[in-house]
Amino acid sequence: MFCHQCQEALKNTGCNLAAGVCGKTSEVANLQDLLIYTLKGVAEFNQQARIAGINQLKTDRIILDGLFTTITNANFEDTSVANRIEKALEVRDSIKQELVDKGALKDKEYPDYATWDGSFADFERKSEEKQVGILATENEDVRSLRSLILFGLKGMAAYAKHALNLGHEGNEIYDFIEKALLATEDDSLSADELVSLVMETGKYGVDVMALLDKANTSRFGHPEMTEVKIDTRNNPAILVSGHDLKDFEELLEQTEGTGVDVYTHSEMLPANYYPAFKKYEHFYGNYGNAWWKQKEEFESFNGPILFTTNCIVPPKGSYKDRVYTTGSTAYPGFKHISDREDGKTKDFSEIIEHAKKLPAPTTIEEGTIVGGFAHNQVTQLADKVVDAVKTGAIKKFFVMAGCDGRMKSRDYYSEFAQTLPQDTVILTAGCAKYRYNKLSLGDIGGIPRVLDAGQCNDSYSLAVVAMKLKEIFELNDINELPIEYNLAWYEQKAVIVLLALLYLGVKDIKLGPTLPAFLSPNVAKVLVENFGISGITTVEEDMDAFMAKA
Ligand code: SF4
Repeated sequence: MFCHQCQEALKNTGCNLAAGVCGKTSEVANLQDLLIYTLKGVAEFNQQARIAGINQLKTDRIILDGLFTTITNANFEDTSVANRIEKALEVRDSIKQELVDKGALKDKEYPDYATWDGSFADFERKSEEKQVGILATENEDVRSLRSLILFGLKGMAAYAKHALNLGHEGNEIYDFIEKALLATEDDSLSADELVSLVMETGKYGVDVMALLDKANTSRFGHPEMTEVKIDTRNNPAILVSGHDLKDFEELLEQTEGTGVDVYTHSEMLPANYYPAFKKYEHFYGNYGNAWWKQKEEFESFNGPILFTTNCIVPPKGSYKDRVYTTGSTAYPGFKHISDREDGKTKDFSEIIEHAKKLPAPTTIEEGTIVGGFAHNQVTQLADKVVDAVKTGAIKKFFVMAGCDGRMKSRDYYSEFAQTLPQDTVILTAGCAKYRYNKLSLGDIGGIPRVLDAGQCNDSYSLAVVAMKLKEIFELNDINELPIEYNLAWYEQKAVIVLLALLYLGVKDIKLGPTLPAFLSPNVAKVLVENFGISGITTVEEDMDAFMAKA
């Protein structure tokens, strides 16, 4: 195996042993590479099917699901990945046959990813072939640019899948994903062309986040300022992790009146901010912290846990039998809740019955936290915010969005938040917030000093807020705003968020706790020279640099 897609890549180079730092085995890592490789074959023929007018949405959806399945700590199960390879091969060949039948198949020499064939028993051997993995690209700069595009696509696919689950999808987005996947195999593209494609990936990242924002807000209402309870009450309960609000809605509907409470964990916390979920009295609040603390927190939760997306940590045996996955996620030994059939909801009855037999959660925290500052809520506070900036009560905003993780070096973010001057406000989204959302950072004239927009995709909200402020202050450039960017990344959804911000013209982003292993020195140089991206140093040094800026 060789995998360098996340912030925990071994020695900040790549995981290449029997298992990755995340716990993914080399077999699963190789199969995930083979899945991506096979999806390129699907893309090859589906591009032709588009021209012939015979492409089908089900193909696009298979590509989305496949990409999503390979993001960090979403799917650890070889059979689950192998099933998807088998399905991709079947779909690829059926599109090819339809093109033949229509006389529309291009007569050319096809690459191996479009022609290889095999059954379950062959997948492992095939997945070990060099041409399947990321190291097939020998030039490190080309590999780096291809990785930026591929990992951006993976993050994009995750967001697109959530939007799709709520009935929103975009043909242009699907077309781009296919083209970009094929571009990562195209040796004729120059480095400049690949850099342009990286930026185009960012453009589609913005589009997909906007689509998901529309999907979420049109169904569940706009997130609003909310005090979220973080203690517990004495009922059996289910803990929901991940990002999928459709799953969350269906679980709330099916648990209503059963005596089983529902709590959010980690990235699902922002579900508390949506008006549509507030009507459920048995939706109690949020339990615990960021994903990497799940071993302790799942233990003390006592009830079953549902993963709607990543981030799964290889579990302790003591709670393994009460963890369920659904959608693109899977882990050996966890129960899996099947996809919804057309027109029907998912069936959560097994996890609900399981919850009824287990004790209520053990309280690990008391009190409340505040969030819900997505673009609509902030726009409603705009007058107050603009006044505070004009009077100097707020000197700067710090976007500290992104991911949390288990590395000790991430203590930087708690320290940074605590060291920030009192006349600054943190704008956050994603699980990075858990590094400071329970600190008492106070408020500025009633505006909390930590404004949480929501999940990582709600970084889009932060960009909308920045655009709005640019308009209000009549500025020419988003970078003239008193907003600094100090982002924390972990997996591929953060990659698409970063590319989206670059596309929107945001400059001088600090990225940590380490720069991605997949950035070659030359590609890193391009990012530094064109966008001012840099790694974090020490809290003192970075704070001085940020505060010295006009
Ligand atoms: Fe390593 Fe991250 Fe890949 Fe897991 S996802 S194998 S930790 S680089």
